[in-house]
Amino acid sequence: MINMIFLGPPGAGKGTQSAYIIRDYGLVQISTGDLLRQAVKDQTPLGKEAKVYMDAGQLVPDSLIIGLMKDRLASPDCAKGVIFDGFPRTIAQAEALDAMLKNDLKTEITQIISLNVADELLVERAVGRRSCPKDGKVYHIKYNPPKVGGVCDLCGTTLAHRDDDREDTIKNRLKVYHETTSLLKGYYGNSGKFTEVDGEGNPDDVYVKIKRILG
Ligand code: ADP
Ligand code: AMP
Repeated sequence: MINMIFLGPPGAGKGTQSAYIIRDYGLVQISTGDLLRQAVKDQTPLGKEAKVYMDAGQLVPDSLIIGLMKDRLASPDCAKGVIFDGFPRTIAQAEALDAMLKNDLKTEITQIISLNVADELLVERAVGRRSCPKDGKVYHIKYNPPKVGGVCDLCGTTLAHRDDDREDTIKNRLKVYHETTSLLKGYYGNSGKFTEVDGEGNPDDVYVKIKRILG
């Protein structure tokens, strides 16, 4: 049973690597960013509240995120094992996750993988990121372009550019990562389950290193 956390700054490749892991290990991916973007699209009260923070590249308050995760973890598919992508981002979220897994699901985190990529590359990756609004498949205009410009290979839908993938917002998001989220390396560092992976190679090479950790 694998319950892994992908730590890493925005654009590090967490979503891209999660797709490979889902294919090979049959895990469920929970991306708080994806859950929030869906809530924004659906114009739910949570979505309306979260949007202000997301547009500014700031973290959405812990209470909202922890509630969102508690609801998502109540779904039976989580018993397959989970990839936590973009969560936790604060120590309070990490503590809440430990408690939810222990008390509600009688399980625990098995691996924490931190994907490391230099800031200059992260800005380029995020600015060039495009995704399919229908199936969520992620592309990059230079590193992973679709076969036909601007449309999804799988379904032909016009690809979207995230509002928060503009250069100024990304810089804020990277600042928040370095000031807050990277502290989680200290939180998990001595757990015996924490590994840092260089995320700068091509996606297949990065995945080889991740597979070695997952076994
Ligand atoms: P995250 O989920 O960590 O925010 P993504 O997986 O969405 O990151 O990747 C961000 C962008 O970088 C996407 O456009 C993706 O296609 C591209 N990308 C992901 N991994 C790599 C890589 N190893 N090399 C080059 N580009 C990559
Ligand atoms: P992501 O898709 O992971 O890059 O997240 C996009 C945005 O959603 C972030 O910049 C935050 O505003 C918000 N967000 C996603 N996950 C979290 C989280 N765990 N805690 C706080 N805010 C989050």
